[in-house]
Amino acid sequence: MSAATAPLETLAPAVDAGPETRHSNTFLRLKKKLERSVGEAIGDYDMIGDGDTVMVCISGGKDSYTLLSCLLALRERAPVDFRIVAMNLDQKQPGFPDHILPAYFESIGVEYRIVTEDTYSIVKDKIPEGKTTCSLCSRLRRGIIYRTAKEIGATRIALGHHRDDILETLFLNMFFGGKIKAMPPKLVSDDGNHVVIRPLAYCTEAEIARFARAMDFPIIPCNLCGSQENAQRKQIKAMLQGWARDFPGRIESLATSLKNVVPSHLADQRLFDFTGLTQQTEVEEGDTAFDPPELPRLVPQAVRIVSRLQDAD
Ligand code: SF4
Repeated sequence: MSAATAPLETLAPAVDAGPETRHSNTFLRLKKKLERSVGEAIGDYDMIGDGDTVMVCISGGKDSYTLLSCLLALRERAPVDFRIVAMNLDQKQPGFPDHILPAYFESIGVEYRIVTEDTYSIVKDKIPEGKTTCSLCSRLRRGIIYRTAKEIGATRIALGHHRDDILETLFLNMFFGGKIKAMPPKLVSDDGNHVVIRPLAYCTEAEIARFARAMDFPIIPCNLCGSQENAQRKQIKAMLQGWARDFPGRIESLATSLKNVVPSHLADQRLFDFTGLTQQTEVEEGDTAFDPPELPRLVPQAVRIVSRLQDAD
């Protein structure tokens, strides 16, 4: 496997070299870190409040198992009382092991709902062979998720997207959609009836993968539908993996930048009134057009490159 195609987890610097079992210190530290990150995201975006019913969407992948595990742990010590219902949609993909998730939910004693809808046949029927099936498949899935949330009285729908999914989406939208748009930690569902939350928004894929391995979750493969991963997303993933390897701190800085948007220094007239701008307008961060860019300490390579350029002037 080339470095460009290696999973993110293999590219991340090893935090601890010790054996990672559910009782090792490294695992306990990782668990604490993930739960702290989830707690922080929930707090920062006011994701869950007293009396909420949180429907946690479980696909059977590492991310959704980790999400459920963290939410259950946090509920134990949360100052607010909320209900958790694990939900899985069995889309009738060939070979889907439909006994795994009910058995897992029973084993951890969580309330759950399994919904069975043969969206696989609909997608196969409607989309010509060789064409991407994901957009219709996700649209159908979204409709079923919203309907189920309504049936169980869920006030929150929790999804297992993590920090790296969010960054990949940001670049996908910038490169191929001409938009600066990622995946928000909290949003209103398309039908306007639900609040969708992403409590793993601050967690890295590498940490989640390590946690899932040590927890030995009964992972269900994600390629049962036979669809290939979106080629553009793959490309972005490889780019981010390269940066993670070559420029320590860059990915962290990117994630932080999503929380530090300066509309007056972009060009979107809907976000900043450039037309009405006068000498009296107060502009955040002022005019830095002729100043050297402010460099984050996290990216030493970039600092060196800019210093060299400045020396050359
Ligand atoms: S990868 Fe398969 S299951 Fe996932 S959205 Fe695409 S078609 Fe649906």
